[in-house]
This record gives sequence, C-alpha cells and structure tokens, in this order.
Amino acid sequence: VLAQAEFQPARLLEVLRAVQAEFRHIPEPAIELIAVGLQIPRTQIIAVAEFYSFLHLEPQGRYELYIADSITDRMLGNQQVLEALAARLQVAVGGVRGDGLVSLNRTACTGMCDQGPAGLVNGYPLPRLTPAKIDALTALIEKQVPLNVWPAEMFRVEEPIYRPDLLLNQAFVNGAAIQASFARGLAETLAELDASHLRGRGGAGFNTALKWRSCSQQAATPRYVICNADEGEPGTFKDRMLLDLYADQVFEGMTVCAAIIGSNHGLIYLRAEYLFLRDKLLAVLQARREQGLLGQAILGHDGFDFDIEIRMGAGAYICGEASAQIESLEGKPGIPRTKPPNSVVCGYQRKPTVVDNVETFFAATHIAIQGGQWFAAVGTPQSTGTKLLSISGDCQRPGIYEYPFGTLVRTILQDCGAEDVMGVQVGGPSGTFISNRELDRVVAFEDLSTAGSFMVFNRSRNLFAIAQNFTDFFAHESCGFCTPCRVGTSLLKNQLAKIADGLGAAEDLAELSALCEVVKNNSHCGLGESAANPILTTLLSYPELYLQQLQYREFAPAFDLDATLAAARRLAQREDPAAHLNQVEN
Ligand code: SF4
Repeated sequence: VLAQAEFQPARLLEVLRAVQAEFRHIPEPAIELIAVGLQIPRTQIIAVAEFYSFLHLEPQGRYELYIADSITDRMLGNQQVLEALAARLQVAVGGVRGDGLVSLNRTACTGMCDQGPAGLVNGYPLPRLTPAKIDALTALIEKQVPLNVWPAEMFRVEEPIYRPDLLLNQAFVNGAAIQASFARGLAETLAELDASHLRGRGGAGFNTALKWRSCSQQAATPRYVICNADEGEPGTFKDRMLLDLYADQVFEGMTVCAAIIGSNHGLIYLRAEYLFLRDKLLAVLQARREQGLLGQAILGHDGFDFDIEIRMGAGAYICGEASAQIESLEGKPGIPRTKPPNSVVCGYQRKPTVVDNVETFFAATHIAIQGGQWFAAVGTPQSTGTKLLSISGDCQRPGIYEYPFGTLVRTILQDCGAEDVMGVQVGGPSGTFISNRELDRVVAFEDLSTAGSFMVFNRSRNLFAIAQNFTDFFAHESCGFCTPCRVGTSLLKNQLAKIADGLGAAEDLAELSALCEVVKNNSHCGLGESAANPILTTLLSYPELYLQQLQYREFAPAFDLDATLAAARRLAQREDPAAHLNQVEN
C-alpha cells in the first residue's frame, strides 16, 4: 500500500482507505508502519483517521452498512429501513454485531436523493432500498456472499435527465475543446472565457476567467488543476451524473485549464460516496491517454504535458470547501485554511492552484469550443449560461434538470411535477428556504443561488423537522476548528430542538435569533457562515409557525429535570414524593 502511494505523505488518505478496506479499521500496528513509511508523526495519522467519517480506529463489520439520513431519505422512509436492517441482521444502529459480520450506521447524504432511501455497503451504493431489496441484501450478508458477486441491480444508480438544455444537448467530440483552444490561441481562449462571464458552479460563484488568469500570472511553479468532485451538499447529485455520463467533457475542461495556466498535474477529488464511479473514470482517463489527450505533448503540442489522477475523499462535507480539500489532498484533516493567500497563489503543496467544480470544467469545455458570446447569450446579465439542478423531494420526477439562469421557481416546480408545495430549499442546507408565497423568485446568483440542490416540500411536511435535519447536519459536519461554529452549531441544534419540542418561550426565539447571528458573523469559513441559514430562512418564510410553537409565556427548561433525576432517585432508593422537584418547589 505504501509503495503504491509512492511513500508520499500527501497520499495518506489513500493509504488509510486501503488499510481500512482490508482490516475494516486502522489497527495500531498499521499506524506505526505508516508513520515510519511516510515519515510522518503517528499523531497526524490518528488525527486524520478521527476526522473522516469513513475511517475508523475501532473495527467495523465485514459488511459495513450506512443508511443516508438526509431529509429526503427521511421522507422516503429511511427510519423503517434502519429498523428493518437492525431487526433482520440483529445489529444495533451505530453498532457492530457480536460476530463482527456487519455494522450499521447513519450517514449524511449519499448523493442519491433522487432514488432514496439509499445507503452504502463497504462504500458501494444501495439506491432505492425497498423491502424486497432489504430481504435480498440481508440474505446475501448472512450467507457472506462477496460483494463482487452480488447482483449488479443492487448497486445500479440511475441518471434521470428530465430537461437537458444548452450544455447537456451539445454534441461533443473528444479533443475538440483542446484543438479549438490551441487553434484560437490560449490567451484568446481565456478572453472567450472572460466574455462568457462563467462563474464557478460550486456555490461561491467566483469569476472563472479571473481565477485562471490570476493563477497563470503567478511566478511559482508547478501549478495545479483540481476538480472538486466532492458535492456533499445534501440534495445535490448532478456532478454524479456528469462524471457518470460526461466525464470526457469534464476532463477536457481541466486540460484546457492546464494549457492556459501552465500546469502538468491535475487531480480530481472524488467524494467517498462516489466510489462506484472510480473504475469508470480511471478507464476514461486511460482511453484519453491512448487518444493523446493526456500525457506528453498532448495532440502534438510540444511542451504541453498534462495528466490527471483521482483521489478519493473519506466522508467529510467540509472537504467541499476548496482550501479544506487541498489540506485533505495533502494528507491532513480537512480544516479550511486562513485566507489570504488564496489557492491561486498558495494552493496544493503551497503552489498556485485552480480549484473548480465539475460543472464549471464541463461548461468551460463548451465555451472553449463555441466561444464566450454563445454562452453569455443565455441566462441573465449577472448569471450567464445555464445551471444544472438536482431536484428531489415531493415531486413526481426527481432527477437532473438544466435551466437557463433566471428561470422561475414556479416553472421548475411545474416541470418536475410538484403539487401542493409548502416550500423549496434552494441550494441545500446552506442555501435558502422559500415559502409557496415566493415562487416567482428565480434561480440566479442575484436571487436564489445554488450549487445545484433543489429540494421540494409539500404541505404535509413538518417545517421544524426540515430545519432540524439541516441544523443537525451542520453540527455534525463542523470541523471543530473555530469556536463560534463548533459550539454555536450545537447550541443552535439544542435551541431549535427545544422550540420544536414545544418547550419554547418568546425569549427562546430571541435567543435562537441571536445565536444565529453569532454563528453566521463569527465563523471561520462558509460552513459556519451558512449553518444558521436553515433557521433564519424558515423563520423568515414561516414566522407564524415558529410563533405558534411557543407554548410558554415564561422561560421553561429545555428538558424535564425531575424525570432526568429519576435514575439518581432509583439508585438512592428515594422514590417518595418528597424526593421530587415539584414537591420541593411546593
Ligand atoms: Fe470548521 Fe466550522 Fe470553523 Fe469552518 S466555520 S473552520 S467548518 S469550525
């Protein structure tokens, strides 16, 4: 394993993933060997193993099951799936069966919100967990059938594209974007990218041409191109589809970027939940090498050498943040860096680096071929082009849709077959919740910005269950680096739970709002800055629901202290009335 990783400390995650796959955890002797082999402190190895959700210092089951716990999986019955699996396999949720055969856990979104309830087994996808599938799955596990001979249908992920538009409809021939870029001139191609006004599709919306130009102007070398394929925002799965069906066009965008910024080395950071795509992507990369589209002197251009390697994540939402992702690629916990300097100046291995999202490279490929005006003619002046949406939740046709920026939410809801809508979460938990009174708003950077997640909720849904699911998600995914986020997200979770449980008073709502501001304004990175959004935006959309929930005029404790003291009374053999709090108060 160490030799395969070329004894590079930056590949620590890869090494730990391989050890975990073999031993179902990272055993102590392996830590010692890795420390010596990679010449890094064992504390770094332990810190990394503890940071990522899919790495473990304690043994997991030989069949390691995770069930997605995003809000749409909950709406589709993930709790029943968990209960059925726990009962059939005789394993507790969050535990390992006594014989070590199977472990069962919850996880955040698995990137299959359009085909839930979903899960993973040893990293591979289990979409649409119907009762029949659960029967088959438990039988296979009990018989200890190796995963590679399970029926392929068990793992089959669909890619339902309901509305292709400008980009998904484009014909494409391998190498066309590279050829067009060199024929036009690399500086001219960058000018076309500028004219397209393409903005990053990963959420932040930074001007792509500006980023590439800035990186190309740095004196330091080597320079790197990183494709961020860690779409961990619950409700997002359009990068999955692009990598599954349009990988060549994504890799070609990376190659054009490399030509422009002067890079020889590209990396794609693939989220752990997309392990099933790795072999397919490796095959695409190999085919591109054989076609002269990667490697030395690409398409005969002397001096243009570029190749791409795939690196897997290990289950940490924060690694979708560019600087955290770079830390992860360097074999460290994914803790966001302090900025400036930005990645274009000091990125991977402290060298100039462009980090862009899968969809951004995909769009750049077509801009390199068609030109900037072609792209800028679609969308709005501030948000040119189209946006891929991953639509899930209460609608008849969950899947992938491509829309020109500026499209009304109302139109999108009609297209996907949503009825009796209570609200839509645009942009995932870090985005914006809008009520059914706001359906004439548009998807665009200047109104409702989204990296692609579009979750629909009908009137039968509980607003607090939605806000709580998202708030719990942030509390779980906070990397813990800064106090406002680490502590603040847990306080938000507790305070929201208190109100949702009917124990809130007016002052609790004021306290909740104040906490939201503290977390939003004082956190180190985007996760903390947006962690309060689910509360702030649901409060803005449906203040009446929050007010109705306030049952008390005066402050009430968040929990029943008397009931909590029951264990102490039992131990002290004091169950007499005088031992109860209300008795003391009287
Ligand atoms: Fe980590 Fe949260 Fe601070 Fe970001 S805001 S650095 S996720 S603790």
